[in-house]
Amino acid sequence: MDEIISSERLLGELRETFKSGKTTSFEWRKTQLQALLRLLEEQENKCFQALFDDVGKSKVEAFKDEVGPAKKAVVHALSCLKEWMTPKKVGMRLLLYPSKAEIVPDPYGLVLIMTSWNYPLDLALEPLIGAIAAGNVIVVKPSELAPATSSFLANTVPLYLDNTAIKVIEGGPEASQQLLQQKWDKIFYTGSPKIGRIVMTEAAKHLTPVTLELGGKCPLIFDYSSISSNLKVALRRLSSAKWGACCGQACISIDYVLVEEKFTSSLIDMLKTLVRRLYGENIETLGSISRIVNKRHFDRVCNYLKDPAVAASIVLGGSYDEKRLLIEPTILLNPPLDSAVMNEEIFGPILPIITVKNIQESIDFINTRPKPLALYAFTHNDAFKKRIVSETSSGSLVFNDVMIQYICEELPFGGVGQSGMGRYHGKYSFDAFSHEKSVLYRGYFPDLSARYPPWNGFKMEF
Ligand code: NAD
Repeated sequence: MDEIISSERLLGELRETFKSGKTTSFEWRKTQLQALLRLLEEQENKCFQALFDDVGKSKVEAFKDEVGPAKKAVVHALSCLKEWMTPKKVGMRLLLYPSKAEIVPDPYGLVLIMTSWNYPLDLALEPLIGAIAAGNVIVVKPSELAPATSSFLANTVPLYLDNTAIKVIEGGPEASQQLLQQKWDKIFYTGSPKIGRIVMTEAAKHLTPVTLELGGKCPLIFDYSSISSNLKVALRRLSSAKWGACCGQACISIDYVLVEEKFTSSLIDMLKTLVRRLYGENIETLGSISRIVNKRHFDRVCNYLKDPAVAASIVLGGSYDEKRLLIEPTILLNPPLDSAVMNEEIFGPILPIITVKNIQESIDFINTRPKPLALYAFTHNDAFKKRIVSETSSGSLVFNDVMIQYICEELPFGGVGQSGMGRYHGKYSFDAFSHEKSVLYRGYFPDLSARYPPWNGFKMEF
């Protein structure tokens, strides 16, 4: 009860700040974004430490996937802020002559950002950048499963950003549920589809708009014969995305690979050699790989391998170390399609390889499953590319690379169907936290009597 009263009080304070109008000025938004950039520069080592403590990310990985992208996003927002805020003039039809019109981006007001643990810094800051740029007052609720980053944000954000407009509230599911009971003008959620449903249900009670950045199983179509001259690069990209990015605990990581049966053994042989060279020979010598976030998720991933039918499909790895929460890069060949590993988002270092007779069949395989957040295809076959573009549906589609779409500010990032709704990054982040208000300016002349009743041919006269 006390918590509800205190979050109501806190939200009341934030609403007062919004009413005062200070967050809508260009100066305020610019100053806050500059302060956020300063935070990232001055506190870089603390960011690295928190990310290491939470998921064992190395400095290189932490910079490449979290601090670097967040800095890039602030710099981009600062350089585009004026343009994004400027109302867009709209040409009017002759029918409405004389009139002028524009689309004015209005901040929603009070917004809630709930984030996930796997990229706990960047996933909190990317939407925060959009929400500040759009002129909102903001509550960020980091994930309790990344406690070091959560407490870093709670302690550091108030030292740099305007505490009357931006708050970080820590806590677990109970805190999230209490926050969700409040009336928000927008909720931005990153996490699993399961909790996404709870968020949307609570938001519906107040008709609050939501952006849901969810997950799912992201396939990779490996058109082996068409990329034979680029196999080495393709395999390096596959391996670093699957195992070198938070140990497969990434929403746009590769979940499984589709390849033609006849190329399976050479694909697996090459992957085995590469994986051992990049990550070590065995569980004792494992390096350059993050750990699993906690015991619950460690057990969840290991349980996939305990299914005897799945265990029988292991062609590489399969060992784990409970003490260090480490799981070896593991490759499965054709695990049963009705097994849990083929029906749940893996979110760990297991890579199933599924064979198809003809690579074109991959399209049907993908289309009989929920729409993925990302679909990848390694192919040089232009006709096949066209088919994939037009016959599949996914949040994003990338040819010949993996996960690179995340750092491309020009492209919207988001899911479709079960992988989410709404989009962000770059200008799309600004849009995610703005209402596009139509504004129409009219005068009183000329005034045609034909538009007024009575409609029986006689015209009203003043
Ligand atoms: P999580 O457990 O950290 O939860 C996310 C947020 O939901 C947290 O703030 C947490 O406090 C809150 N929460 C947890 N239980 C709740 C409950 N019962 N009621 C209300 N709130 C609750 O994260 P997760 O869900 O395990 O995250 C992993 C999932 O997120 C994966 O499915 C992954 O694909 C997805 N993800 C998506 C993106 C994206 O950009 N689309 C990015 C990262 C992760």
